[in-house]
Amino acid sequence: MVVYKCFTCGKKISHKVLEKNKGKCAYCNSRIFYKTRSVITKVKAV
Ligand SMILES: [Zn+2]
Repeated sequence: MVVYKCFTCGKKISHKVLEKNKGKCAYCNSRIFYKTRSVITKVKAV
């Protein structure tokens, strides 16, 4: 899952939400984003 961070308001927005909003921030309508990765630690051993 790709998560973007809005350059203007700093909110995290998933790319699905961005698609819905045609590439705009849902909060401030900015079009500038950082691409971030949600850091998930995978644990295989149980
Ligand atoms: Zn924003």
